[in-house]
Amino acid sequence: MKKLCKADSKEIGRCCQELLDAGSSPRYLCRKCARVALEKGRLCDPVKIKPSKKKK
Ligand SMILES: [Zn+2]
Repeated sequence: MKKLCKADSKEIGRCCQELLDAGSSPRYLCRKCARVALEKGRLCDPVKIKPSKKKK
């Protein structure tokens, strides 16, 4: 699986925006390159993002 961290940064930016637009919140953040992904395997130094649910 290709790691997002090693992909082109512009490409990543677009992917991130698509993720946000799609309404699916990323679950992991890379502490090294500050990128986000749905799967931690895609990042080189992933930390889990706590879901912010304030709908109630
Ligand atoms: Zn990374």
